[in-house]
Amino acid sequence: MPFNSLGLDGHITKAIKEAGYTEPTPIQSAAIPEVLAGRDVIGIAQTGTGKTAAFVLPIIHHLAQRIGADTHGRGMRALVVAPTRELVVQIEENVRAYAKHLPLRMATIFGGVSERPQIDALRNGVDLVVATPGRLIDLMQQRRVNFSSLEFLVLDEADRMLDMGFLPPIRQIVRSLPQKRQTLMFSATLSREIEALTHEFQRSPKVIEIGRRANPAETVTQFVYEVGQHQKPALLLHLLADPQFDTVLVFTRTKHGADRIAKKLEGAGIKTGTIHSNRSQNQRLRALKDFKSGAVRVLVATDIAARGIDVDGISHVVNYDFPMHSEDYVHRIGRTGRAHAVGDAISFITPEDHAGLRSLERFIGRGIVRKRAERFDYGAAAPPREERERGRGQPRADVRERRKRPAGTVPGAPSRPPQRSFGRRAPGAGGGGRGRR
Ligand code: AMP
Repeated sequence: MPFNSLGLDGHITKAIKEAGYTEPTPIQSAAIPEVLAGRDVIGIAQTGTGKTAAFVLPIIHHLAQRIGADTHGRGMRALVVAPTRELVVQIEENVRAYAKHLPLRMATIFGGVSERPQIDALRNGVDLVVATPGRLIDLMQQRRVNFSSLEFLVLDEADRMLDMGFLPPIRQIVRSLPQKRQTLMFSATLSREIEALTHEFQRSPKVIEIGRRANPAETVTQFVYEVGQHQKPALLLHLLADPQFDTVLVFTRTKHGADRIAKKLEGAGIKTGTIHSNRSQNQRLRALKDFKSGAVRVLVATDIAARGIDVDGISHVVNYDFPMHSEDYVHRIGRTGRAHAVGDAISFITPEDHAGLRSLERFIGRGIVRKRAERFDYGAAAPPREERERGRGQPRADVRERRKRPAGTVPGAPSRPPQRSFGRRAPGAGGGGRGRR
């Protein structure tokens, strides 16, 4: 089905064509007509399925009907709420690309940067706002936000927002909005909590569930390398000696771990950026920009900070540390193989990760191939003194950081309370797997 048949404004189809899209993805074909018809929608789709355009395109089509009118002093007409700053910036980039031929006025609102430009943008009038919950609440409390003209609310990655404890601010935001509005919600799975939210915030929503194809765990080539903790730095350098690893996203469990690896790679002459919560918003945006432009070849990231990273053509995702939660694994590897591209996802597995690996395999409903790295000298890297002596002296900073985590979040332990599935299986979850929230 071509984009033209969806009945979108010509300025929008022109921009879509320029973005190089030939046809809508399944979530777009299913959601766009419903949103255009004025219905509330709950979209069950993961990152990488084209879900951003699925809500942005029909909303800007609708906004385009009255766009360019004097918006000064008027409230926003569409509000998109997303869990992280990175995701907000990514949605903004999408909106700007799709609305490039329309005089749409938009603003982003998130913490970690000065609020002045955000307040000025709101005062001057905006059609569409993309925001994280925290800063939006701050500005609402300062009476800087006018919702009286609001027609559309989007809650993106609603499941992640619940995980991050954003339910109270989201409720506060929704309570301030006009009752008469269209509400779109996107989530990776339809859990009991998400169903409760649809009842609370939506009116007879159309449920659109994109099936197994959406699961990056099925489109990305995945394998694991069994390795000792002390061998990980050497193995990463060994892999990076292969020029095919040209745009590489490396995940660590802790921010200190991320810094340590970045230092090591830089020491070996490999241009590397880092993205984690100890870095300022500007540093994070800069690292992402450098990675996108190719100025750095490797980006080392922690899970929360990496949400929303959208870089075309990531050749490899390396799980330097195995993720604590199976859901995080799916999100991590969803960074490669996005849209129609292909990529590899490699996980380093130490003996203590084996239980976590087994529960991941149950979660994604398939086994992951174990490999040995070719031409890597497994015997060469001796355990560093600090590792041999661990337990006798002061633990490393990242170990201290890990120890601060609540009980039950160690790898292999049942990480989250069991979920009721409502008869649906998480996309990609196999028979014995449990659904993602
Ligand atoms: P998302 O799931 O919204 O994060 O989108 C994942 C990626 O797919 C982004 O890089 C989009 O630019 C890209 N994309 C979205 N829609 C299409 C489409 N119809 N055809 C090709 N690529 C798309």
